[in-house]
Amino acid sequence: MSLIRLRTELESLARTRGAALIGVADLRKIRTDDFILPRNTLDRLPYAITLAVRLAREILDALPDHPDLLYEHHYRQVNFTLDRIALDITIWLQHNDYRALPVPASQIVDWQNQRAHLSHKRIAIEAGLGWLGRNNLLVTPEYGAQVRLVTILTDLELEPGTPLNRNCGECRNCISVCPAGAIREKPEDFDHQACFEKLREFQCQHFVHQFICGLCVRACPGSRD
Ligand code: SF4
Ligand code: SF4
Repeated sequence: MSLIRLRTELESLARTRGAALIGVADLRKIRTDDFILPRNTLDRLPYAITLAVRLAREILDALPDHPDLLYEHHYRQVNFTLDRIALDITIWLQHNDYRALPVPASQIVDWQNQRAHLSHKRIAIEAGLGWLGRNNLLVTPEYGAQVRLVTILTDLELEPGTPLNRNCGECRNCISVCPAGAIREKPEDFDHQACFEKLREFQCQHFVHQFICGLCVRACPGSRD
């Protein structure tokens, strides 16, 4: 099958399963030394398919001033959906005689240093899905930060996307809503520790069972309702 045909089938499969955004990044163009995957695996599978599933606006809009069980359930279901799409694409790639490795949508391997198998966000930015926002999340033009991500590594030679030459511009919607004061003017000044402490506090207060928040996600809807 031609590469064009494979790409068309891939995108159709992903969209049918619920992906809102699809892109491809070449791992050789980004920093990967902090990824918790074997070097030879990354070398063997240099193409990263990145997929985004959109969060439900109504769930976010119903949030009080902290995360709640409705959001937690939704967050988990979106992650399950992402993992399911990644598995379906892996099965399809292998059926077409390509290698594929689906990386879990939400799995921190090293909590101490906040490291996962790889950075879905870094890959999505390289693929051109969006930019790094002031809230330290991927911000997409279409849906703002109201998406979650998954990645499939493969040896299928897909044409990579191009990073967007954009940033948050004049928007500062998320800064005032952050209860931790973690969001600053520049994305590189984001206070990871303050954010994490607030997520831990939310969990200790028994609002939710996971380290989640959602408040700066709600503040960042993108341009398409
Ligand atoms: S997740 Fe919550 S605490 Fe962390 S930056 Fe966003 S609003 Fe602030
Ligand atoms: S709410 Fe505005 S400033 Fe904050 S991340 Fe989104 S686009 Fe950037």
